[in-house]
Amino acid sequence: MLHKQDDCIMVFQDIFRTIQPLATKEPKMKPKNKLNRVLIVGGTHGNEFTGAYLIKKFEQFPEQIHRSSFETVTLLANPQAFTAGRRYINKDLNRCFLRQNLEDSTLSGYEDLLAQEINHLFGQNGETPVDFILDLHSTTANMGLTIIVDNDNPFNLQLAAYLSYVNPSVKVYSSGNSGRSHNSLRSLGRFGICIEVGSVPQGVLNADFFLKTEAIIHTVLDYLELYNQGKVRLFSNNLIFYKYIEAIDYPRNEDGAIQAMIHPQLQFKDYEALNPGDPMFLTFDGQIIPYEANSTAYPVFINEAAYYEKGIAMCLTEKQMITVE
Ligand SMILES: [Zn+2]
Repeated sequence: MLHKQDDCIMVFQDIFRTIQPLATKEPKMKPKNKLNRVLIVGGTHGNEFTGAYLIKKFEQFPEQIHRSSFETVTLLANPQAFTAGRRYINKDLNRCFLRQNLEDSTLSGYEDLLAQEINHLFGQNGETPVDFILDLHSTTANMGLTIIVDNDNPFNLQLAAYLSYVNPSVKVYSSGNSGRSHNSLRSLGRFGICIEVGSVPQGVLNADFFLKTEAIIHTVLDYLELYNQGKVRLFSNNLIFYKYIEAIDYPRNEDGAIQAMIHPQLQFKDYEALNPGDPMFLTFDGQIIPYEANSTAYPVFINEAAYYEKGIAMCLTEKQMITVE
């Protein structure tokens, strides 16, 4: 059985590797600052098992993520939440990395202290600072294979464009306007991206997404290796880019209780056009609440289970075509 699983992984890796545009005579990107240490993180949310179990696997088979030009380290970020099968113990770890929180010695919650410890280890002034962070997440929304970039950093964008070029089913979501660039774990690295896959229920291990996430990780590591060796081909690439506009809450009454559900026609329609007048919510008494706006939006994180408590039913994005140089 193990042999079969390895075959399957090889197949995925082959798909990704065979179409890499490597040996060409075109100009290459010169590494301005070589990457010395890369951190792969899973279990930042304890009930997102895809990433957490990939970290478990890499701890068992470290040679698979070894590359010659940099050190690869792994982190199961929230071990107590993972053991408990919960997103977090006291608060969302992936919102604990604001500079002022990392420096606040009065904080005492589990995740606040964990964030300070992780910063102490891997932050830019830490014991073993990391140059690049690859943070692994899963979602109950139907977001397929999504690369999340938190800012317009050209290195991150070039990598995201490359990943969507290698695998056209990969979508790129820019969370820049949502605060992630300041408070997420991956904000500790000089560079970093998030891999978000779904839909996967919380606390469930899904082999398909496990293998696809693993294949992307290998493509990223190979890309970083080529970057360090000065072998990344410069290519101008048109990238479809979904940029965060705003979060939409569920309709609620004056007590804050939810009064409507995601409309069935919108469920699992992440990245699809939501036009003005399209059904958005369905109230418990059968009323359709349409999308009221002047222009089309492209919602993501539709009905994400972890976002009910945050007051988010979906995030609206703007679909843009950008050219990554
Ligand atoms: Zn997550």
